[in-house]
Amino acid sequence: MKIEKLSEDKKAGKLSLLIATEEVFANTIRRIILEDVPTLAVEDLEFKDNSSALYDEMVALRLGLIPIKTDLKSYNLPGKCKCAGAGCAQCQLQITLKANKKGYVFAEEAVSTDPKCTFVFPRMPVVKLLAKQKLDVTMTAVLGIGKDHIKWAPGWAYYYAEPVLKVGKVEDPEKVMEKCTDGVFTLKGKKLEVNEDKVKNSQLLELYADLDSGITLEFTDKIVFHLESWGALPCKEILAKSADILIEKIEEMESMI
Ligand SMILES: [Zn+2]
Repeated sequence: MKIEKLSEDKKAGKLSLLIATEEVFANTIRRIILEDVPTLAVEDLEFKDNSSALYDEMVALRLGLIPIKTDLKSYNLPGKCKCAGAGCAQCQLQITLKANKKGYVFAEEAVSTDPKCTFVFPRMPVVKLLAKQKLDVTMTAVLGIGKDHIKWAPGWAYYYAEPVLKVGKVEDPEKVMEKCTDGVFTLKGKKLEVNEDKVKNSQLLELYADLDSGITLEFTDKIVFHLESWGALPCKEILAKSADILIEKIEEMESMI
């Protein structure tokens, strides 16, 4: 199987690949990423104090959805841990968040028992406190999978067939340029030029093909695969883990036959 990297932005957690494969394989990897690649997320909370405007449940929901940097080598899924789900240092970590100052409480104020595994986005607001209001909460984060709750999904993955945009005799290039907001075309004199590096990321190709009969859209049998990490794991680790899980699933099936 041939894989070509189209673009990678490590800081934004985005990776685009061109894969010579069948759709069913791309979809299998996509579903494993969304449903089976584990990450850490807050699961249990103990509120010692919460006099903010938000109910405990709302603060809990917000904290549960903040991504946590995940170390897959050091943590086990609670169901697969030696402690048999009782809870130990290999399957959970504690995070405490204490605040009593007026203003926003940010994710960076939380303190984790594992300095490698902290909230990904420091400036993510949790709640806003008025004067004399307090928040004191202890959280337990565990590994989990997106199939059980979306908070454990590592990111978003999607794919489509590789598009090929052909430009012949365009009747009204200016009309096309008016609608072109993603840099696919440049107007040179009265002629449209295609910026090939923008084509594979464009969501507007069908619109362009509908606008003018001089523009045609075709698809190859290759797949453009996009992965956007929510920060818990780097894109490459998400892909590598999804491949490991696929192999595990196949071996499990083999042993059942
Ligand atoms: Zn354990």
